[in-house]
Amino acid sequence: MFKVIFVVLVLFFPYNISVEISMSIKNSDQERDLINSLLNKALKASYKNNFDEALKILNDASSYQIAQMNTKKTYQEIYHQKLKYTKKRQKQKIINKKRDKKIIYLTFDDAPSKGTNNVIQMINKLNVPVTMFVVGFHIDSSDQNRKLFKKLLQNKNMLVGNHTYSHAHHRYERFYESGAKNVIKDIKKNYDLIRKYQNKTDIPYTRLAGRNVFRLPNLKTNDNYISKRQLKKEEKVYDALWQRGFYLYGWDIEWGFDYKTGKFQKTIEQFVKKIENMNDNNLATTKNKVIVLMHDRMFQEKYKTKKMLKMLIEKLRKNGWEFETMSSYIKYNEIQNPKYTQKSKLYDIDDFIKKNRKNYKNISNFTNLMIYD
Ligand SMILES: [Zn+2]
Repeated sequence: MFKVIFVVLVLFFPYNISVEISMSIKNSDQERDLINSLLNKALKASYKNNFDEALKILNDASSYQIAQMNTKKTYQEIYHQKLKYTKKRQKQKIINKKRDKKIIYLTFDDAPSKGTNNVIQMINKLNVPVTMFVVGFHIDSSDQNRKLFKKLLQNKNMLVGNHTYSHAHHRYERFYESGAKNVIKDIKKNYDLIRKYQNKTDIPYTRLAGRNVFRLPNLKTNDNYISKRQLKKEEKVYDALWQRGFYLYGWDIEWGFDYKTGKFQKTIEQFVKKIENMNDNNLATTKNKVIVLMHDRMFQEKYKTKKMLKMLIEKLRKNGWEFETMSSYIKYNEIQNPKYTQKSKLYDIDDFIKKNRKNYKNISNFTNLMIYD
């Protein structure tokens, strides 16, 4: 149509003018071809997600006045492609983040101790959730320790776990060989002590004294450091605890410390590297979840080690680790101890509270009954 009009016009113009116009027709045809090829190129680039290149080509094309309309359309298409691509990438990023989320569980055993205050200070300063497994006879040993223990319970970054009442008086074989009844009695004593101070309905997070043992709904492991003969004697004790509703949490790696010299067995670099090697080679008990064992007394004032804890946390954080308490190690809704829940409905305690609000004050006793009856 365009051409026809020009041809008609040419017929009415003198020769020299008609040459000029036919030249311009030729030029505008070439121009149009050029623009079309540029726009195609821009689109192709956008399909390959090279949006910068696509926009650059589009910019070149738009310098031709007759390209305005088509340029706009192509721009819209590129914009649409880019939006689609960005959304897809965001989605992938979220998936990757979820998949690669690495969690570190800092746990401190044998609290309260002379180092407890320094640990609290540091985790407050850096806002890091941690778990402390407390020993009953340490709590009962002095008013100062009782105060420290209350401080632990009030701390929002702290999950308090049960680490036995007596710590087996550091004679582990004798303790476990004394039988399930005795061990349960000792752990129950500490459980009752903890509950005397806090009226929460937490499940009983427990770590055995001197033994790296897991008893969880989806996990059962024993301590590799004791002989098979010894394990045979002790295993039934662990199982009995589990059947009574206690959840036993071991650890993956310990940050060793020499209490005589006040020195760590590994530098922060070495220790973090070990944690990461462990995770990369899938050697932690649960993938992408590493439980670190420390003792709060490592960080007491006389050793001047408070800054080491700070540096460890900062290094782990820098390397992408997220910190959580043991409460996230297994999801709450995964928590089922089928053998025992059927009998006691221990883990329906929250439901129970809702239905029995007026009896709430007696909940603590009720929970104890459910665990031990
Ligand atoms: Zn201990």
